[in-house]
Amino acid sequence: MYDRSHLEAKRPNRENAMNTDYDVVIIGGGITGTAILYAFAEFTTIPRIALIEKESGVAQLNSNTRHNSQTLHSGEIEAHFSPEKALAARDGAHLVRQYLARYAPHAGKRVQKMMLAVGERECEALEWRYRRIRAEFPHLTVLKRDEILDVEPNVVFGRDPDEKIFALFYRDGRAVDYHALSESFVHEAAKARPGIDVWMNTAACAVTRDGAHFRIATDQGIFSCTVVIVACGPQSLLFAHSIGYAKDFALLPVAGGFYTTPATLNGKVYTMQYLGIPFAAVHGDPVVHDPTITRWGPTAWAIPLLERGRASTLFDFLRSRLISVRGLAALVTILGRGETMRFALCNAGYHIPVMGKRLFLRAARKIVPLLRYSDLRFAHGEGGIRPQLIDCRARKFVEGQGTIEGDRIRFHVTPASGASSCLATAFDDAQWIAQQCSGAFPFDEKKFHDAFGLNDQAA
Ligand SMILES: Cc1cc2nc3c(=O)[nH]c(=O)nc-3n(C[C@H](O)[C@H](O)[C@H](O)COP(=O)(O)OP(=O)(O)OC[C@H]3O[C@@H](n4cnc5c(N)ncnc54)[C@H](O)[C@@H]3O)c2cc1C
Repeated sequence: MYDRSHLEAKRPNRENAMNTDYDVVIIGGGITGTAILYAFAEFTTIPRIALIEKESGVAQLNSNTRHNSQTLHSGEIEAHFSPEKALAARDGAHLVRQYLARYAPHAGKRVQKMMLAVGERECEALEWRYRRIRAEFPHLTVLKRDEILDVEPNVVFGRDPDEKIFALFYRDGRAVDYHALSESFVHEAAKARPGIDVWMNTAACAVTRDGAHFRIATDQGIFSCTVVIVACGPQSLLFAHSIGYAKDFALLPVAGGFYTTPATLNGKVYTMQYLGIPFAAVHGDPVVHDPTITRWGPTAWAIPLLERGRASTLFDFLRSRLISVRGLAALVTILGRGETMRFALCNAGYHIPVMGKRLFLRAARKIVPLLRYSDLRFAHGEGGIRPQLIDCRARKFVEGQGTIEGDRIRFHVTPASGASSCLATAFDDAQWIAQQCSGAFPFDEKKFHDAFGLNDQAA
């Protein structure tokens, strides 16, 4: 059984606080902040590290198992990733796989993954993509209709025999409970460095620079430190704006919702998505800890909140610069691109009462043709927010990891699939901190490479 006692023990409050002066403070205890905490504790010599989290536990929001698709994105089945991004995803996922195998087997589950193309046009596009990536993904296999029938019978049953289908398949993918993984990161960090502080129920309100130090005002008091990592998901951008960074960026909060059915698929089945749209198309996933359920989605629709179900974050949304002349002009330009508008309208349709479920069924039937209306249940209270950064100057979505860099301060906005790259982000931050602090806090890259077998991608 996984030992959670450390998390219980590490909940200081104002009364028992001994010291709020640190070298590095990480704000935000989702999968990103906890992975960074682990990497700093294990692979650097930073003496005084703290993590501040406003909730009562780690990974309660977007990193929570209920709020994301629980996929370890490793580039094989993500048709909306450019080949370059697919490679970066492969390498980032490798770190998480290694970590899971070594420290947190309870947080991951082996699962087969499939990218399904339906119809002549999609099949051609997927064949083209396969030719481009196969050298880098030698473990991928190509499946024709009969072979798809063997591994995912419900994808073929009831399908028009004249409809062409083609798939890429990977038997050894991973589903991840990112909440459990976050807890494990904190646990391992505390083992490596018993002196770290994890402050739960502590909300950072403002970050200001005070000479060589930062002051972080929280509802539990003032913290000071030399380096700050802000890993607050969507709120990271607000902190960046507040001290003068990322003025050209605005935020589009894209909520994701799920439907569930009784178990219908043996593994993950993704469908084709256009390059340039940063979100995967509707897909089916087995639930990581419940083999009796298949989860469908996520849908993608913009909402004026930075946290699902928390109306108070409307004011934060209004401060995130989307509702401004430049923000709206950029959004209109982005939506003016045909496929983005089609994607947005389609997803908006899924949320129309009654009809929305029928439209969603049509999308899910692309994967399982015999799926019935009565099988689908909306998963109330599930699904988080993907904070999509918009570059107002270039009038386009910011692709990839939303990291904003300042002088001894870094902000991670973490868009879609950011959980899979948590350790890659942590690696990057450890390198960055070693540079920023002129070697005062060296990063033991060799130890990191050894720990994660970085030269052994086949593992
Ligand atoms: C529907 C959906 C499906 C997804 N599916 C996948 C998937 O299958 N695979 C994948 O890799 N990624 C997926 N993602 C993306 C992934 O969930 C996120 O990239 C990831 O969880 C972001 O982690 P984070 O730690 O950066 O942010 P969060 O999980 O949002 O954590 C931020 C933390 O900061 C804390 N915080 C915020 N403000 C403050 C403050 N002022 N003071 C103190 N603490 C603060 C919050 O309480 C929270 O704990 C999905 C996202 C969604 C919404």
